[in-house]
Amino acid sequence: MVFKRKKAGKEEPEAPEEIIDSGVIEASGEETAEESARFAVEKPHIEKEEPLPEGSDSNSSLVSAGAESLRETAKAELNSSSPKGLKAGLALSRKVLSRPFAKAAVKKAIDPSFWAEAEEALIAADAGVDCSAVIVQKAKEIVIEEGVKSLEGVREAFRKAVVETILSSGTPPSLEGPKPRVIFVVGVNGVGKTTTCAKIGYIFKSAGKRVIFAAADTFRAAGIEQMEMWAARVGAPVVRHKAGGDPAAVVYDCIERALAKDIDAVVVDTAGRLHTKKNLMEELSKIWRVAEKKLTHSPLGILVIDATTGQNGVNQARIFSQALKVDMIALTKMDGTAKGGVVLAIGKELKIPVGFVGVGEGLGDLRPFDPVEYAKALF
Ligand code: GDP
Repeated sequence: MVFKRKKAGKEEPEAPEEIIDSGVIEASGEETAEESARFAVEKPHIEKEEPLPEGSDSNSSLVSAGAESLRETAKAELNSSSPKGLKAGLALSRKVLSRPFAKAAVKKAIDPSFWAEAEEALIAADAGVDCSAVIVQKAKEIVIEEGVKSLEGVREAFRKAVVETILSSGTPPSLEGPKPRVIFVVGVNGVGKTTTCAKIGYIFKSAGKRVIFAAADTFRAAGIEQMEMWAARVGAPVVRHKAGGDPAAVVYDCIERALAKDIDAVVVDTAGRLHTKKNLMEELSKIWRVAEKKLTHSPLGILVIDATTGQNGVNQARIFSQALKVDMIALTKMDGTAKGGVVLAIGKELKIPVGFVGVGEGLGDLRPFDPVEYAKALF
């Protein structure tokens, strides 16, 4: 073992044809008040009632329980250090979702075709077929309940529907936990695992905590070197073995080291080769068990999914969940994808909350996921 310290439904009864509104129409900013008064929101037709998730109303706590001190520190740090926000990262997805609104602004009406197009746009943004239908349904309900009569009001209804949908899939746990916090970062090759390990380490470092990396992707020699390089950038030590070594032994040694040195967090980079799926899952289960035995508490499992792969991520989450406890998802490469709706599909279908989103390749580009910020960035 080499231990290297690196420096470096309901039928709507007799809906009126038109409801005239005097609200402000955001999408057509040049209109006069008189023109905007001609904007019409037809009462949406609802196929069937879908009960809203318990406790999810517009006043419910919109910041996840995971957004505790460490996440908050990271957020403050990142807000000041990174120019890239979720809004910039979701620009392409927003473009796709804004089309039905742009059309409605031209037509000066929200008619049945608007709802169909909004659903199609959500599907195009990879929110998933079922989830897209649920969001449109919720938005319609909000429009009826709140008597929404402006385009901006409809937009806000969609934002609320998105937040409700996300909150119904749970809230991510905090990165903080009993010492040492052992964080498994798993996912298929190329999704951004190693980079995400480094970014998580950087969050701990930024909060004044001590962190150590475990280079447990022993399958690829380059994987170990890559982890070392990132560890040097973060300025944290890394435990590595030879390429081809037993990843469970790396994790064992790393946790020992953390316990001996009173280190706050152990971030474990794991292998992600998919062609030997069964072996990989067995290996992950094994190293997880080894970690559990060395600790008096459970490790934290973070599944990294590449947002650009869209719905494939849902399948990956299903497979990895069978091997270990996936507590939350880190969705990478949100910058430069029009598939940002996949956050919704994953939450809805798998009930796994998204805890972080990657919006770039830099150390400061992993952002705590905030459903409200996300909804505002989409609509
Ligand atoms: P791994 O094989 O899963 O460990 O993936 P890597 O960490 O090696 O990352 C693969 C590529 O994705 C690298 O070029 C990273 O810089 C890039 N990457 C990781 N996260 C992000 C992100 O949030 N945004 C962008 N644009 N690129 C990312």
